[in-house]
Amino acid sequence: MADSKNDDRLCIRCGHLTEKKDMYCISCGAPVTNRCLSVGTLLGDPCSYVCNEQTAFCPRCGSHTAFYQAGLVSSPYPENKVLQTDELDEMNWFNHRFFLDD
Ligand SMILES: [Zn+2]
Ligand SMILES: [Zn+2]
Repeated sequence: MADSKNDDRLCIRCGHLTEKKDMYCISCGAPVTNRCLSVGTLLGDPCSYVCNEQTAFCPRCGSHTAFYQAGLVSSPYPENKVLQTDELDEMNWFNHRFFLDD
């Protein structure tokens, strides 16, 4: 606990000093950490990947990040449809050779 000052960060929106334990800025409500917002699937755990401050979409799973949802970062592709793992499995299922005439 010698140097806890490095754990404090400035709010990306309003510049208010936040503490390490804070999830949201106490001044404006912006999320302090740009965490992936994926809620996971039936079989998968939430991603919760911590992205850098410019990240609109999680590099691990493609879900929106907390900063994106809070409007702190923008994307030229707001309508990005994230295919969840089960949807990809479904697509693979219909591409299975069982369904193909050959
Ligand atoms: Zn703030
Ligand atoms: Zn993610």
